[in-house]
Amino acid sequence: MPAALELVKKLISFDTTSRLSNLALIDFAQELLEQSGARCRRSYDASGKKANLFATIGPDADGGYVLSGHTDVVPVDGQEWSSDPFAAEVRGDKLYGRGTSDMKGFVGVALSLAPEAAKAKLKRPIHFAFSYDEEVGCTGVSGLISDLVKAKIKPALAIVGEPTLMKVVGAHKGGTAVKMHWHGLEGHSSAPHKGASAVMMAGEFIAALSQIGVELQDDQDPRFDPPYTTTQANIVSGGTALNILAKEARIVWECRTLPGRDPAKVVARAKELAETQILPKYKRGAPDASFDITVTSTYPGLALDPDSPAVALARELSGANAVETVAYGTEAGHFASAGIPAVICGPGSIDQAHKPDEFCALNELDACEAFLRKVIAKATQPSP
Ligand SMILES: [Zn+2]
Repeated sequence: MPAALELVKKLISFDTTSRLSNLALIDFAQELLEQSGARCRRSYDASGKKANLFATIGPDADGGYVLSGHTDVVPVDGQEWSSDPFAAEVRGDKLYGRGTSDMKGFVGVALSLAPEAAKAKLKRPIHFAFSYDEEVGCTGVSGLISDLVKAKIKPALAIVGEPTLMKVVGAHKGGTAVKMHWHGLEGHSSAPHKGASAVMMAGEFIAALSQIGVELQDDQDPRFDPPYTTTQANIVSGGTALNILAKEARIVWECRTLPGRDPAKVVARAKELAETQILPKYKRGAPDASFDITVTSTYPGLALDPDSPAVALARELSGANAVETVAYGTEAGHFASAGIPAVICGPGSIDQAHKPDEFCALNELDACEAFLRKVIAKATQPSP
Protein backbone atom coordinates (compact mmCIF):
# COMPACT_ATOMS: atom_id res chain seq x y z
CA MET A 1 0.00 0.00 0.00
CA PRO A 2 1.49 3.34 -1.02
CA ALA A 3 1.88 6.01 1.64
CA ALA A 4 -0.81 8.64 2.10
CA LEU A 5 0.82 11.32 -0.06
CA GLU A 6 1.41 8.94 -2.97
CA LEU A 7 -2.21 7.80 -2.75
CA VAL A 8 -3.54 11.35 -2.76
CA LYS A 9 -1.44 12.07 -5.87
CA LYS A 10 -2.69 8.89 -7.50
CA LEU A 11 -6.34 9.79 -6.84
CA ILE A 12 -5.79 13.25 -8.30
CA SER A 13 -4.43 11.65 -11.50
CA PHE A 14 -7.93 10.29 -12.22
CA ASP A 15 -9.80 13.14 -13.91
CA THR A 16 -13.09 12.77 -12.05
CA THR A 17 -14.59 16.12 -12.99
CA SER A 18 -18.28 15.62 -12.16
CA ARG A 19 -19.34 15.39 -15.82
CA LEU A 20 -17.04 12.36 -16.33
CA SER A 21 -17.15 8.76 -15.13
CA ASN A 22 -15.49 8.06 -11.78
CA LEU A 23 -15.31 4.29 -12.31
CA ALA A 24 -11.55 4.10 -12.87
CA LEU A 25 -10.97 5.71 -9.47
CA ILE A 26 -13.62 3.53 -7.81
CA ASP A 27 -12.05 0.35 -9.33
CA PHE A 28 -8.66 1.44 -8.01
CA ALA A 29 -9.99 2.23 -4.51
CA GLN A 30 -12.02 -0.97 -4.33
CA GLU A 31 -9.02 -3.10 -5.26
CA LEU A 32 -6.92 -1.48 -2.53
CA LEU A 33 -9.67 -1.87 0.05
CA GLU A 34 -10.23 -5.50 -0.88
CA GLN A 35 -6.52 -6.16 -0.42
CA SER A 36 -7.19 -5.15 3.20
CA GLY A 37 -10.12 -7.53 3.40
CA ALA A 38 -12.82 -4.88 3.07
CA ARG A 39 -16.33 -5.93 2.10
CA CYS A 40 -17.40 -3.59 -0.70
CA ARG A 41 -20.74 -2.51 -2.16
CA ARG A 42 -21.43 -0.17 -5.03
CA SER A 43 -24.42 1.92 -5.98
CA TYR A 44 -24.56 3.30 -9.51
CA ASP A 45 -26.15 6.30 -11.20
CA ALA A 46 -28.77 5.76 -13.92
CA SER A 47 -26.13 5.76 -16.68
CA GLY A 48 -23.97 3.14 -14.94
CA LYS A 49 -20.94 5.40 -15.54
CA LYS A 50 -20.62 6.63 -11.98
CA ALA A 51 -20.65 4.73 -8.74
CA ASN A 52 -20.52 5.17 -5.00
CA LEU A 53 -18.32 2.77 -3.11
CA PHE A 54 -19.10 1.67 0.43
CA ALA A 55 -16.54 -0.58 2.10
CA THR A 56 -16.38 -2.08 5.56
CA ILE A 57 -13.40 -3.35 7.53
CA GLY A 58 -13.92 -5.06 10.88
CA PRO A 59 -16.84 -6.88 12.47
CA ASP A 60 -20.06 -7.46 10.58
CA ALA A 61 -22.10 -5.52 13.10
CA ASP A 62 -24.15 -2.39 13.55
CA GLY A 63 -22.40 0.81 14.51
CA GLY A 64 -18.94 1.87 13.52
CA TYR A 65 -17.57 4.98 11.92
CA VAL A 66 -18.02 6.09 8.33
CA LEU A 67 -15.12 7.96 6.70
CA SER A 68 -16.91 9.80 3.94
CA GLY A 69 -15.66 11.71 0.94
CA HIS A 70 -16.72 12.53 -2.59
CA THR A 71 -14.63 11.39 -5.53
CA ASP A 72 -15.69 14.05 -8.03
CA VAL A 73 -14.00 17.42 -8.51
CA VAL A 74 -15.05 20.72 -10.06
CA PRO A 75 -13.92 21.60 -13.60
CA VAL A 76 -10.63 23.34 -14.36
CA ASP A 77 -12.09 24.87 -17.55
CA GLY A 78 -11.02 28.47 -18.07
CA GLN A 79 -8.74 28.46 -15.02
CA GLU A 80 -5.06 29.43 -15.19
CA TRP A 81 -3.00 26.76 -13.44
CA SER A 82 0.76 26.98 -12.83
CA SER A 83 1.03 23.18 -13.17
CA ASP A 84 -1.05 20.29 -14.50
CA PRO A 85 -4.09 20.11 -12.19
CA PHE A 86 -4.25 16.33 -12.60
CA ALA A 87 -0.54 15.71 -11.96
CA ALA A 88 -0.29 16.78 -8.33
CA GLU A 89 3.06 18.18 -7.31
CA VAL A 90 4.67 19.24 -4.07
CA ARG A 91 6.02 22.80 -4.10
CA GLY A 92 7.43 23.98 -0.81
CA ASP A 93 5.21 22.71 1.97
CA LYS A 94 2.08 22.34 -0.16
CA LEU A 95 0.61 19.79 -2.55
CA TYR A 96 -0.93 21.40 -5.64
CA GLY A 97 -3.61 19.78 -7.80
CA ARG A 98 -7.34 19.64 -8.45
CA GLY A 99 -8.97 18.02 -5.45
CA THR A 100 -6.01 18.32 -3.05
CA SER A 101 -8.28 20.09 -0.57
CA ASP A 102 -11.68 19.25 -2.02
CA MET A 103 -11.38 16.39 -1.25
CA LYS A 104 -9.02 13.74 -2.50
CA GLY A 105 -6.62 14.68 0.30
CA PHE A 106 -9.00 13.20 2.85
CA VAL A 107 -10.03 10.26 0.64
CA GLY A 108 -6.40 9.35 -0.07
CA VAL A 109 -5.36 9.54 3.59
CA ALA A 110 -8.37 7.43 4.63
CA LEU A 111 -7.59 4.86 1.95
CA SER A 112 -3.94 4.68 3.00
CA LEU A 113 -5.04 3.64 6.50
CA ALA A 114 -7.10 0.65 5.33
CA PRO A 115 -4.26 -1.83 6.06
CA GLU A 116 -3.88 -0.39 9.58
CA ALA A 117 -7.62 -0.72 10.13
CA ALA A 118 -7.41 -4.32 8.92
CA LYS A 119 -4.62 -5.11 11.38
CA ALA A 120 -6.29 -3.33 14.32
CA LYS A 121 -8.49 -5.44 16.55
CA LEU A 122 -11.64 -3.56 15.66
CA LYS A 123 -14.60 -3.99 17.96
CA ARG A 124 -16.67 -1.79 15.69
CA PRO A 125 -16.46 -1.51 11.91
CA ILE A 126 -14.66 1.22 10.02
CA HIS A 127 -16.61 2.10 6.87
CA PHE A 128 -15.39 4.00 3.82
CA ALA A 129 -18.01 5.90 1.81
CA PHE A 130 -16.80 7.37 -1.48
CA SER A 131 -19.47 9.10 -3.53
CA TYR A 132 -19.95 10.68 -6.97
CA ASP A 133 -21.67 13.94 -7.99
CA GLU A 134 -21.20 15.84 -4.76
CA GLU A 135 -20.10 18.92 -6.68
CA VAL A 136 -23.33 19.04 -8.67
CA GLY A 137 -25.66 19.26 -5.69
CA CYS A 138 -24.72 16.39 -3.33
CA THR A 139 -26.84 14.06 -5.45
CA GLY A 140 -24.74 10.87 -5.61
CA VAL A 141 -24.57 10.08 -1.91
CA SER A 142 -28.35 9.66 -1.71
CA GLY A 143 -28.01 6.35 -3.61
CA LEU A 144 -25.30 5.20 -1.22
CA ILE A 145 -27.42 6.02 1.82
CA SER A 146 -30.56 4.34 0.46
CA ASP A 147 -28.44 1.24 -0.32
CA LEU A 148 -27.33 1.18 3.34
CA VAL A 149 -30.92 1.50 4.52
CA LYS A 150 -31.98 -1.36 2.20
CA ALA A 151 -29.09 -3.55 3.38
CA LYS A 152 -29.85 -2.65 7.02
CA ILE A 153 -26.32 -1.35 7.56
CA LYS A 154 -26.47 1.06 10.48
CA PRO A 155 -23.24 2.97 11.13
CA ALA A 156 -23.08 4.92 14.37
CA LEU A 157 -21.82 8.11 12.78
CA ALA A 158 -20.11 9.65 9.77
CA ILE A 159 -17.04 11.85 9.48
CA VAL A 160 -17.23 13.87 6.27
CA GLY A 161 -13.74 15.01 5.33
CA GLU A 162 -14.52 18.24 3.49
CA PRO A 163 -11.77 20.83 3.97
CA THR A 164 -12.13 22.48 7.39
CA LEU A 165 -8.41 22.88 8.24
CA MET A 166 -9.13 19.87 10.52
CA LYS A 167 -11.49 21.99 12.61
CA VAL A 168 -14.68 20.35 13.83
CA VAL A 169 -17.70 21.61 11.90
CA GLY A 170 -21.10 20.64 13.24
CA ALA A 171 -23.50 22.60 11.06
CA HIS A 172 -23.85 23.86 7.50
CA LYS A 173 -26.40 25.45 5.24
CA GLY A 174 -28.59 23.57 2.80
CA GLY A 175 -28.57 24.17 -0.93
CA THR A 176 -31.05 24.13 -3.77
CA ALA A 177 -30.30 24.52 -7.48
CA VAL A 178 -32.93 25.88 -9.85
CA LYS A 179 -33.02 26.06 -13.64
CA MET A 180 -35.19 28.63 -15.33
CA HIS A 181 -36.02 28.84 -19.01
CA TRP A 182 -37.59 32.07 -20.25
CA HIS A 183 -39.58 32.13 -23.49
CA GLY A 184 -39.98 35.42 -25.36
CA LEU A 185 -41.06 36.41 -28.85
CA GLU A 186 -38.61 37.30 -31.59
CA GLY A 187 -38.88 40.65 -33.32
CA HIS A 188 -36.75 43.60 -34.41
CA SER A 189 -34.96 45.05 -31.43
CA SER A 190 -36.05 48.55 -32.52
CA ALA A 191 -39.64 47.54 -31.66
CA PRO A 192 -39.48 45.91 -28.24
CA HIS A 193 -43.20 46.55 -27.73
CA LYS A 194 -43.99 44.11 -30.57
CA GLY A 195 -42.30 41.12 -28.98
CA ALA A 196 -40.56 40.12 -25.79
CA SER A 197 -36.88 39.74 -25.14
CA ALA A 198 -36.29 36.68 -22.99
CA VAL A 199 -32.91 38.14 -22.06
CA MET A 200 -34.59 41.27 -20.66
CA MET A 201 -37.03 39.10 -18.69
CA ALA A 202 -34.17 37.02 -17.34
CA GLY A 203 -32.32 40.19 -16.38
CA GLU A 204 -35.33 41.46 -14.46
CA PHE A 205 -35.59 38.11 -12.76
CA ILE A 206 -31.98 38.29 -11.61
CA ALA A 207 -32.75 41.70 -10.12
CA ALA A 208 -35.81 40.15 -8.41
CA LEU A 209 -33.55 37.44 -7.02
CA SER A 210 -31.37 40.07 -5.42
CA GLN A 211 -34.51 41.67 -3.95
CA ILE A 212 -35.40 38.28 -2.44
CA GLY A 213 -31.86 38.09 -1.08
CA VAL A 214 -32.48 41.34 0.80
CA GLU A 215 -35.81 40.05 2.16
CA LEU A 216 -34.10 36.89 3.41
CA GLN A 217 -31.70 38.93 5.54
CA ASP A 218 -34.51 39.47 8.07
CA ASP A 219 -34.01 35.88 9.29
CA GLN A 220 -30.55 35.57 10.83
CA ASP A 221 -28.50 32.92 12.59
CA PRO A 222 -25.27 34.57 13.77
CA ARG A 223 -23.37 31.27 13.79
CA PHE A 224 -23.18 31.38 9.99
CA ASP A 225 -21.22 33.65 7.67
CA PRO A 226 -23.19 35.25 6.15
CA PRO A 227 -25.81 34.78 8.87
CA TYR A 228 -28.79 34.50 6.49
CA THR A 229 -30.08 32.47 3.54
CA THR A 230 -28.60 33.66 0.24
CA THR A 231 -29.71 33.56 -3.41
CA GLN A 232 -27.38 33.78 -6.40
CA ALA A 233 -27.60 33.39 -10.18
CA ASN A 234 -24.27 32.35 -11.69
CA ILE A 235 -25.10 30.99 -15.11
CA VAL A 236 -27.06 32.91 -17.70
CA SER A 237 -27.38 32.50 -21.44
CA GLY A 238 -29.69 33.54 -24.24
CA GLY A 239 -30.18 35.55 -27.38
CA THR A 240 -28.75 35.23 -30.89
CA ALA A 241 -28.08 38.75 -32.16
CA LEU A 242 -28.04 42.30 -30.87
CA ASN A 243 -30.90 43.38 -33.13
CA ILE A 244 -33.24 40.42 -32.50
CA LEU A 245 -35.50 40.31 -29.46
CA ALA A 246 -34.27 37.16 -27.72
CA LYS A 247 -36.59 34.18 -27.98
CA GLU A 248 -34.89 32.18 -25.24
CA ALA A 249 -32.92 32.78 -22.09
CA ARG A 250 -31.76 30.42 -19.39
CA ILE A 251 -30.69 31.09 -15.85
CA VAL A 252 -29.32 28.69 -13.27
CA TRP A 253 -29.64 29.97 -9.74
CA GLU A 254 -29.39 28.68 -6.22
CA CYS A 255 -30.37 29.38 -2.69
CA ARG A 256 -28.26 28.45 0.31
CA THR A 257 -30.61 28.07 3.23
CA LEU A 258 -29.95 28.24 6.95
CA PRO A 259 -30.59 24.76 8.43
CA GLY A 260 -34.27 24.12 9.05
CA ARG A 261 -35.48 26.69 6.50
CA ASP A 262 -37.61 25.48 3.62
CA PRO A 263 -36.04 26.23 0.22
CA ALA A 264 -39.42 25.64 -1.44
CA LYS A 265 -40.57 28.93 0.09
CA VAL A 266 -37.74 30.78 -1.62
CA VAL A 267 -38.57 29.12 -4.95
CA ALA A 268 -42.26 30.00 -4.48
CA ARG A 269 -41.38 33.65 -3.77
CA ALA A 270 -39.19 33.78 -6.88
CA LYS A 271 -42.02 32.35 -8.96
CA GLU A 272 -44.46 34.86 -7.51
CA LEU A 273 -42.25 37.83 -8.40
CA ALA A 274 -41.68 36.45 -11.89
CA GLU A 275 -45.41 36.00 -12.46
CA THR A 276 -46.63 39.24 -10.93
CA GLN A 277 -43.84 41.74 -11.60
CA ILE A 278 -42.09 40.57 -14.75
CA LEU A 279 -44.35 38.55 -17.05
CA PRO A 280 -47.30 41.00 -17.23
CA LYS A 281 -45.09 43.73 -18.76
CA TYR A 282 -43.84 41.43 -21.50
CA LYS A 283 -47.18 39.81 -22.21
CA ARG A 284 -48.33 43.14 -23.67
CA GLY A 285 -46.10 42.55 -26.69
CA ALA A 286 -46.06 38.75 -26.50
CA PRO A 287 -49.12 37.12 -24.90
CA ASP A 288 -47.33 33.75 -24.87
CA ALA A 289 -44.30 35.00 -22.96
CA SER A 290 -43.60 32.51 -20.18
CA PHE A 291 -41.02 30.70 -18.10
CA ASP A 292 -40.41 27.15 -16.89
CA ILE A 293 -38.85 26.56 -13.52
CA THR A 294 -37.25 23.30 -12.34
CA VAL A 295 -35.55 22.49 -9.06
CA THR A 296 -32.65 20.31 -10.22
CA SER A 297 -31.18 19.37 -6.86
CA THR A 298 -31.61 20.06 -3.22
CA TYR A 299 -29.68 18.93 -0.16
CA PRO A 300 -30.52 19.52 3.46
CA GLY A 301 -28.57 21.71 5.81
CA LEU A 302 -26.94 20.23 8.88
CA ALA A 303 -28.40 21.65 12.07
CA LEU A 304 -26.11 21.86 15.06
CA ASP A 305 -27.01 19.04 17.46
CA PRO A 306 -25.36 19.56 20.86
CA ASP A 307 -25.81 15.85 21.63
CA SER A 308 -24.37 14.56 18.34
CA PRO A 309 -22.07 11.56 18.97
CA ALA A 310 -20.27 12.47 15.73
CA VAL A 311 -19.41 15.95 17.00
CA ALA A 312 -18.44 14.50 20.40
CA LEU A 313 -16.08 11.96 18.80
CA ALA A 314 -14.44 14.53 16.52
CA ARG A 315 -13.94 16.94 19.42
CA GLU A 316 -12.51 14.25 21.66
CA LEU A 317 -10.05 12.97 19.06
CA SER A 318 -9.01 16.34 17.65
CA GLY A 319 -8.91 18.16 20.98
CA ALA A 320 -11.00 20.96 19.46
CA ASN A 321 -12.85 23.14 21.92
CA ALA A 322 -15.02 24.92 19.41
CA VAL A 323 -17.58 23.51 17.03
CA GLU A 324 -17.74 25.62 13.90
CA THR A 325 -20.39 26.24 11.27
CA VAL A 326 -19.82 26.73 7.54
CA ALA A 327 -21.86 28.25 4.74
CA TYR A 328 -21.00 25.66 2.10
CA GLY A 329 -22.90 22.41 1.74
CA THR A 330 -21.71 18.86 2.33
CA GLU A 331 -23.04 15.34 2.35
CA ALA A 332 -23.30 15.50 6.16
CA GLY A 333 -26.85 16.86 5.91
CA HIS A 334 -27.89 13.78 3.91
CA PHE A 335 -26.31 11.39 6.44
CA ALA A 336 -27.94 13.20 9.36
CA SER A 337 -31.33 13.20 7.61
CA ALA A 338 -31.00 9.42 7.27
CA GLY A 339 -30.40 9.07 11.00
CA ILE A 340 -26.60 8.81 10.83
CA PRO A 341 -25.15 11.66 12.92
CA ALA A 342 -22.44 13.42 10.94
CA VAL A 343 -19.63 15.87 11.49
CA ILE A 344 -17.30 17.59 9.04
CA CYS A 345 -13.56 17.50 9.64
CA GLY A 346 -10.96 17.32 6.91
CA PRO A 347 -7.61 18.62 5.66
CA GLY A 348 -7.11 21.76 3.61
CA SER A 349 -9.11 24.93 3.35
CA ILE A 350 -12.36 25.65 1.55
CA ASP A 351 -10.66 28.90 0.46
CA GLN A 352 -8.54 26.85 -1.93
CA ALA A 353 -11.40 24.70 -3.18
CA HIS A 354 -12.67 25.24 -6.74
CA LYS A 355 -9.81 27.66 -7.55
CA PRO A 356 -6.85 27.46 -9.90
CA ASP A 357 -3.71 26.25 -8.14
CA GLU A 358 -5.81 24.48 -5.50
CA PHE A 359 -3.49 23.17 -2.81
CA CYS A 360 -3.42 21.40 0.51
CA ALA A 361 -0.65 22.05 3.03
CA LEU A 362 1.32 18.88 3.72
CA ASN A 363 0.94 19.36 7.47
CA GLU A 364 -2.83 19.27 6.97
CA LEU A 365 -2.52 15.81 5.43
CA ASP A 366 -0.33 14.76 8.38
CA ALA A 367 -2.92 16.08 10.85
CA CYS A 368 -5.65 14.20 9.01
CA GLU A 369 -3.63 10.99 9.14
CA ALA A 370 -3.08 11.38 12.90
CA PHE A 371 -6.78 12.11 13.43
CA LEU A 372 -7.97 9.10 11.42
CA ARG A 373 -5.49 6.83 13.25
CA LYS A 374 -7.21 7.92 16.47
CA VAL A 375 -10.61 7.11 14.92
CA ILE A 376 -9.36 3.60 14.12
CA ALA A 377 -7.94 3.24 17.64
CA LYS A 378 -11.27 4.35 19.08
CA ALA A 379 -13.01 1.59 17.12
CA THR A 380 -10.83 -0.99 18.89
CA GLN A 381 -12.30 0.04 22.23
CA PRO A 382 -15.59 -1.33 23.52
CA SER A 383 -18.67 0.79 22.79
CA PRO A 384 -19.28 3.48 25.38
ZN1 LIG B 1 -16.12 18.97 -1.53
